[in-house]
Amino acid sequence: MKMEESNLLRHPMTDEQWTKATGLLSLSVKSMDGTTVRTLVESIFAGIQRIDPLMTAYCLQTCPSCSDPCCRGQDIYYNQADVLYLTALGDPVPPGQTRSSRHDPCRYLGPNGCVLPRTVRPYVCVWYLCESHMDLFSDEPAGIQRSVVDTLRAIRFSRLSLEMLHEKEPFGTRNDRGR
Ligand code: SF4
Ligand code: SF4
Repeated sequence: MKMEESNLLRHPMTDEQWTKATGLLSLSVKSMDGTTVRTLVESIFAGIQRIDPLMTAYCLQTCPSCSDPCCRGQDIYYNQADVLYLTALGDPVPPGQTRSSRHDPCRYLGPNGCVLPRTVRPYVCVWYLCESHMDLFSDEPAGIQRSVVDTLRAIRFSRLSLEMLHEKEPFGTRNDRGR
């Protein structure tokens, strides 16, 4: 079993590079076992939906007064597991990588925060708990904490499994850096 997600694609990309990379990964997804892919993707999607209300509630409490918003961080990108999940989801993939050059702001950052639904954000934006959020999380009842941790663990397992399926495909051996 893989322990870490690949760093492939975790870098600035032009829209052309993004389209090429997502096209290649979508071919790979199409060549995988459809039932397994659907099970994994549904588990990731459902898991993100499950934690969304809690994360949204935390954001409403803390983000408007945040002095150092995490979305201004410049090391936030979609990675290969994100793109495999997004292409397998069946909806149109977001139009590009978070930025085409290292110093650009995230293209999905709007005046009121992220314009993307949580289910299609880079996964790092989904699981990240900043210090303020950690404070709120540590005040939650143990049952809620356990349920969130279990959900994140299940999502991680499904994302790694999806990547492993990709790596077994002939397309998985190509250089998917989108360059
Ligand atoms: S660092 Fe925390 S409080 Fe600040 S914008 Fe990010 S999630 Fe919100
Ligand atoms: S994708 Fe959304 S949540 Fe992630 S850094 Fe960009 S604006 Fe923030």
